[in-house]
Amino acid sequence: MANYDYDLFTIGGGSGGVRAARFAANLGVKVALAEERYLGGTCVNVGCIPKKLFSYASHFSEEFADAEGFGWKLEKPQFNWQTLIANKDREIKRLNGIYEQLLKNSGVTIFSEHAEIIDEHTVEVANIRYTAEKILIATGGWPYVPDFPGSEYAITSNEAFYLKELPASIVIVGGGYIAVEFAGIFNGLGCEAHQIYRGPMFLRGFDLDAAKFLAAQMEGKGIDLRLNSEVSSIKKVDDGYQVLLDSGERIDTDLVMYATGRTPMTDGLGLEACGILVDSNNAIIVDRNYRTNCSSIYAIGDVTNRINLTPVALAEGMALVAHLYQKAEKSVSYEYIPCAVFSNPNLASVGYDEESARQKFGEIIVYQSSFRALKHTLTDNDEKTFMKLIVNPKNDKVIGAHMVGPDAGESVQGIAIALKAGATKKIFDQTIGIHPTSGEEWVTMREPTI
Ligand code: NDP
Repeated sequence: MANYDYDLFTIGGGSGGVRAARFAANLGVKVALAEERYLGGTCVNVGCIPKKLFSYASHFSEEFADAEGFGWKLEKPQFNWQTLIANKDREIKRLNGIYEQLLKNSGVTIFSEHAEIIDEHTVEVANIRYTAEKILIATGGWPYVPDFPGSEYAITSNEAFYLKELPASIVIVGGGYIAVEFAGIFNGLGCEAHQIYRGPMFLRGFDLDAAKFLAAQMEGKGIDLRLNSEVSSIKKVDDGYQVLLDSGERIDTDLVMYATGRTPMTDGLGLEACGILVDSNNAIIVDRNYRTNCSSIYAIGDVTNRINLTPVALAEGMALVAHLYQKAEKSVSYEYIPCAVFSNPNLASVGYDEESARQKFGEIIVYQSSFRALKHTLTDNDEKTFMKLIVNPKNDKVIGAHMVGPDAGESVQGIAIALKAGATKKIFDQTIGIHPTSGEEWVTMREPTI
C-alpha cells in the first residue's frame, strides 16, 4: 500500500472544506487543509454572516420610525458606517479564530497558502510537494462581472463589505440574491438605491407572485427598481460615476456594484494536470459521491455550482466523509431545500414555485394570502406580508411554500420540515395556529385562489 503524507488533502477552507476536513480528522484520518485567503470562506468573510449583520443594521431605520407609533419619541438617529464596519470586522476575526481552533483541535494541519494539484496524489504548497491518498477541492466561487465599457469601475459584494465610506447613492446591477439583498441594505442605511435588472422580474426561479410582491414592497420603501434594463457603460466623472442604460437614460451615482452571479474558483488549481473535467460554467463535474473523473480527487460546494448555499456545502462535506471513511451512504437530499433572500422584507421559499409545480404535476391547487402584520397597525409603515401554499391535489401534499415578510426565513425553516415529512394540506389545516403571529396564516388559508 502506498505511503502518503496525508490521507486527505483539502484545498479551500470555506464551509464545505472545513466541515469535511474536521469531520474526517475526528475519525482519525490524517488531514491537511490549504486556505490562501481566509478561514470560513465566502460565508464567514464576504457572504452570509457579514451580509446578515448589514441587513440587521439596515432594518433599524424602519424600527426607529415604527417605534413612534408605539409611543416612543426619539431624537433623529445617527448612523455611523465606520462603527458598523469595525464591529463587523471584529466579529469576523473572532469567527476566523474559531474556525482555526476547530481545525487544530481536530488535528488538521493548516497551510495558509495557495495549493496546486500536481498529479492525482500530489499537491504543491509554497514550493513544497505533499502526497495524499485523496484530494478534496472545496474552493468555492468568485463574483463575476461581465465585460463592457467601464466595467472596471464596478465593485462587487467582496468590496462592499469593506467600503471606507457609505455612498450617498448606489447603482446595483443584477437580480439575484445578492443584488436584491444589497439594494435593501443600502436603502435601509439611507442611500439612494437604484437596482437594474435585465429581465421582466428579478429573482428568476423563485415564485413569480412572491417576487412581484417583494418588488412592490421594495419600491414602496424607496428603491428605484428598473426592470428590463441593462447598463451600456459606466463613465468615471469627478464626483462619482455616470451609468448609461440601454434606454438612453443616465443615472449619476457615487458607486456601482455588480451582483451578476458567481463563477467556480478554479484559478491556478492545476485541474489540467489530471484532466479534471469542468462544465460550460467552469464548474467541476462530480458523480453522486462527489468524485471527479480522476478517481482520487473529489469536489464539493460552490466549485461544483449546484445549489450554492452554505448548508448544502456542509451537508455535502459530511456525506463525503461518511462515504469515504465510514463506509456509510449518507447522500444529500436535494429536494425541498429551503432558502431565504435577506431582502427588506425577507423572501423565503421551500419546494416548487407555481410555474415549475404546474410543469411537473399538471393540476395544482394554490392558496395565497397577503395582509398587514399586526405590528404595523400602529405605525405608518404600510409593508405587507405575503404567503402562498401550493398543493398537489392527487395526494393533498403541500409541495411549495413561499413567504415575503419580516423574518420569512425563520418561518419557512419550520415549514420546510413539514414539506420534507410529506405533510398534506389536511395536516396544515389540522394544525392549530399561534395567535397572534404572521405564521398562523400557514394553517388558516382555507380557500384556494386557483
Ligand atoms: P445569482 O446567480 O443569484 O443571480 C445573478 C443575477 O445576475 C441574475 O439576476 C442574472 O440575471 C444577472 N446576470 C447574470 N449575468 C448578467 C449580465 N451579464 N448582465 C446583467 N445581469 C446579469 O447570483 P448572485 O451573485 O446574486 O449570488 C450568487 C449565489 O450566491 C446565489 O445563486 C446563491 O446561491 C448564493 N447566495 C445565497 C444567499 C442566501 O442564501 N441568502 C445570499 C447571497 C448569495 P438572469 O436571472 O436574467 O440570469
